[in-house]
Amino acid sequence: MRLWILPVGTFSADETVLDPQCEPGNILNIPVYAYLIDSPNGLFLFDTGCSNHCRTDPKGLLGQEFSQLLQPRLVPDDYIIAQLGKIGFAPSDIDGVINSHLHFDHGGGNSAFNRHKFVIQRSEWAAATSDREQYPDTAALAIDAEQLHLVDGDYRLDTQLYTISTPGHTEGHQSLVVELSDGPIVLTSDAVYTRRQFHPDNIGTATNPAQAQLSVARLLQVTKTLNARPFFSHDPLQVTQESWRLSPRFYQ
Ligand SMILES: [Zn+2]
Repeated sequence: MRLWILPVGTFSADETVLDPQCEPGNILNIPVYAYLIDSPNGLFLFDTGCSNHCRTDPKGLLGQEFSQLLQPRLVPDDYIIAQLGKIGFAPSDIDGVINSHLHFDHGGGNSAFNRHKFVIQRSEWAAATSDREQYPDTAALAIDAEQLHLVDGDYRLDTQLYTISTPGHTEGHQSLVVELSDGPIVLTSDAVYTRRQFHPDNIGTATNPAQAQLSVARLLQVTKTLNARPFFSHDPLQVTQESWRLSPRFYQ
């Protein structure tokens, strides 16, 4: 098993966008990540970053107000295909894509995987295909019926690779556990934005805050039980403070 953490761009935003408990005025570079996992059962992507549309026309995609609040700072190299290319992989090498959820910064590269199986929570797909405002990027939804593998709750892709249902940020959000020889890693995705918010009393944006709190509590429990390291979705400090390896380096 190998895991690459792929940096797929940044946003410029006030810290309060991530953490409403902060004082306003602190502008951060907020990272976006996707992940590649090479397992005995195949090569899987967990999330796909932002679309090219998000880079070339953020205002058109996200609207004036939101694109000001969360300003994409994307270059062509941030696109998922470019990041995979840097470590010698092409989309045709990928066996399947798992989406934590279908927001524009997690599913924007989905349209590049047009023959692939997608593992998505059924409730997430239902929400994303009926709420254009929350899910403005159609690139995330460019998935044919025969590609869709809709799941309900936790889902195992391999003995050491499984999703855990962590709803609340969105209707059908899921996180991913990767049990590596280096030690288990839990990719929280947007169930937890930052280390500071790895606490049920300090959640980020959520369509269902009560559910989001339960999901954070579940992730705390899972990381404790497995003695796993959590990796958060948008933490500007975690990689340097905790010495995480980013692609092309990997965990195994
Ligand atoms: Zn996100």
